[in-house]
Amino acid sequence: MSTPVLPEEAGLREAHLWSTPIRDLGLTLKGTRLEPILAEFAQELEQAGFQRIKPRFYLSTEWGVPFETVAVAIPFYLAKPELTEEHARRIGHVEGMGRTDILRYLRHEMGHVVNYAYRLFEDPEWIRLFGPITTPYIEEYHPKPFSRRYVQHLPGWYAQKHPDEDWAETFAVWLTPGRNWKEEYATWPEALAKLTWCDQIVHELQQRDPVVTSAELDEDVAQIDYSIDDLYQHLKEGNSTFPVELDRSLRSIFEEIDQRPKADTDPSLRPASLLIRRLEGDLMGNAWRWTGHFPERTRILLRHLAERAAAMKLRYAESDETAVTVAITTIVTALAMNWANKGSYLP
Ligand SMILES: [Zn+2]
Repeated sequence: MSTPVLPEEAGLREAHLWSTPIRDLGLTLKGTRLEPILAEFAQELEQAGFQRIKPRFYLSTEWGVPFETVAVAIPFYLAKPELTEEHARRIGHVEGMGRTDILRYLRHEMGHVVNYAYRLFEDPEWIRLFGPITTPYIEEYHPKPFSRRYVQHLPGWYAQKHPDEDWAETFAVWLTPGRNWKEEYATWPEALAKLTWCDQIVHELQQRDPVVTSAELDEDVAQIDYSIDDLYQHLKEGNSTFPVELDRSLRSIFEEIDQRPKADTDPSLRPASLLIRRLEGDLMGNAWRWTGHFPERTRILLRHLAERAAAMKLRYAESDETAVTVAITTIVTALAMNWANKGSYLP
């Protein structure tokens, strides 16, 4: 007979999981949902003609390829559904939502692998097309949405971050099965030139052995001595201050949409703060995708707006929900664009 698990015990067990050093969680790729996806990706690489290059996949804290290695780090939270859920709850944004999205990231990382394995970044043509690899790597880059000079693959106009990312994104578009890049980028000469060169050089490289084969791991899960709690604590942003003008913008949205007098006690009116909280997940992803404003920033901004809407007791009628949603989405987009361009919400 099995002993029933009391709710307190289950809670304790969970709390224990979050405070255990990550290396002691026994996380591996084997047996997880990542295994069949990696098998599918291996097949994709073979079909694309990569026989000589052998990337090594491992679990770490985030996506990446340590410089001058062929080792691909996959976020450990993708290995188990409960860890993915916890990451979504604490951070709000998951890089690798499902099989299609994980494959999208793998194709990007494979671009780095090919770059380092063949030291492509030393090729004068690579430098001419993408820029020097020594260009400073700026975490908060300022993308130009819809620029025709870059391909589009990962959200946030990611190719615009750095020459190495530009190459990785170009390679990922080239590698994606069923994508007709020649047609898709036919009227974007600069992006097309990068793809065309990628197509040509990759075919040449496939006949050559890689010059770099190091698969040294950086922050492998088996080595990480801090816990998930520590990791997420570390990832949390400090307190941000927001311009007071946002109060006026918020108030005007609700006043202009519905001119009817509102009684605080009217049960048919809904609190704006709850709607803003509900929009969080979708707005984080979309603002990131279209403006390059980081999801974690959008979350902090929205929580501020929700707090202010609650303090100002802003409400709306159910019949105005679409109008209010569009207005909030638009104001967040405008602020996100300002931030992405200039690093501040107001000019
Ligand atoms: Zn990258």
